[in-house]
Amino acid sequence: MVINNKSQPGEDHPTLAERMGEINHKLLVLSGKGGVGKSTIAVNLAYSLALTGKRVGLLDVDIHGPSIPKLLGLDNLHVKIEQNRILPLRVSENLKVMSIGFLLKNPEEAVIWRGPMKAGVIKQFLGDVEWGKLDYLVIDCPPGTGDEPLSLCQLLDDSDGAVIVTTPQEISLVDVRKSINFCRQLKLPVLGVIENMSGFVCPQCGELVNVFGSGGGEKLAQEMAVRFLGRIPLDPMVVAACDAGKPYLGNHAEGETALAFKRVIHLLLQVDSASAKGIFMEETAITSNRNNAKEKVMRIAIPVANGKLAMHFGHCQEFALIDVDQKKKEIIKQDSVPAPDHQPGLLPPWLAEQGANMIIAGGMGSRAQTIFADNKIEVLVGAPVASPESIAQAFLDGTLTRGENACDH
Ligand code: ADP
Repeated sequence: MVINNKSQPGEDHPTLAERMGEINHKLLVLSGKGGVGKSTIAVNLAYSLALTGKRVGLLDVDIHGPSIPKLLGLDNLHVKIEQNRILPLRVSENLKVMSIGFLLKNPEEAVIWRGPMKAGVIKQFLGDVEWGKLDYLVIDCPPGTGDEPLSLCQLLDDSDGAVIVTTPQEISLVDVRKSINFCRQLKLPVLGVIENMSGFVCPQCGELVNVFGSGGGEKLAQEMAVRFLGRIPLDPMVVAACDAGKPYLGNHAEGETALAFKRVIHLLLQVDSASAKGIFMEETAITSNRNNAKEKVMRIAIPVANGKLAMHFGHCQEFALIDVDQKKKEIIKQDSVPAPDHQPGLLPPWLAEQGANMIIAGGMGSRAQTIFADNKIEVLVGAPVASPESIAQAFLDGTLTRGENACDH
């Protein structure tokens, strides 16, 4: 068999559906820009899943700049091709890997292919690689919204969705918006946003320095109504692991960065694509309500202590429940109810029972935000300490200024 970069995306592939049918979950890892740590996260996600006994495939579809071989210490290795099958490389009993890099004679060789050629090769990566039965296929896409993720969306109609990796600075975030819109156009669920390289813990003094700023990914996730999966700090040990061709999580189980990776991965695996689609549809409904009719009367819940917004959401004294008319930009009615006893996981269903459609808070952890999203309650964080009615009115007037999420645990 030769790698056939002439086949067209629309042409049937004899074994693609069958092979993909043997894989339970397909996760795409996307980023708006290069160099934000997308491949590093794809490698560590695949590796940690394999460590827990899952059968995992890692597919690198970055045709022009494959970095998975280097990150796994597999550069200069080649895959075997037997009749109509490509045998992927194995990193461990549970982890198989395929990359265009394993087909190149020289890793520095430049691949100059147009879109249809790339689509043909991606089709072969899905249909001709001997993946076998897998629990997860993690697909590392090239940065941006080009031919490769487009082909994948056309070829895989049952993928779980995409996770989007960004760094906190504004210039990266612009491209994340594009990535989210790209997914929405293609009806690909966005499973969440990961903010990588978020803060650097100085090895000398232990102080956290926000080299690229912090919180931008979270704010953007809020804005675009997708889940925020967490932050991973900038850590020289990650660079060392990548340069040594060893997955960071293979050698580091403890420490702030390892825990951050694990938290993010844990949260990602809890997201099911149906609810990721649900959030998107809910947001579309909210946006269209806001933009078009603006007729919906909604109930806003605001955590309150001493008459003002309480920064500590989980421990407030009471909730202000404010009914507003979005069209007239008016507060219709305001009540307050004592907060229930503090119990993990209780507030989202309780606030849903109170009829709240939206929470405006100073800060809230990403786990709680995910649960609110599952209860179809929109969350705005970063609101100031002010009276609940002034916050609700500012929201209606479009003048609510929001800062950082004041509490992310
Ligand atoms: P992308 O796939 O987005 O182009 P890579 O995963 O190849 O990015 O990472 C680019 C560089 O950034 C690599 O040298 C990698 O070691 C480094 N890197 C990624 N994440 C981190 C992190 N959290 N801390 C430090 N360095 C990182």
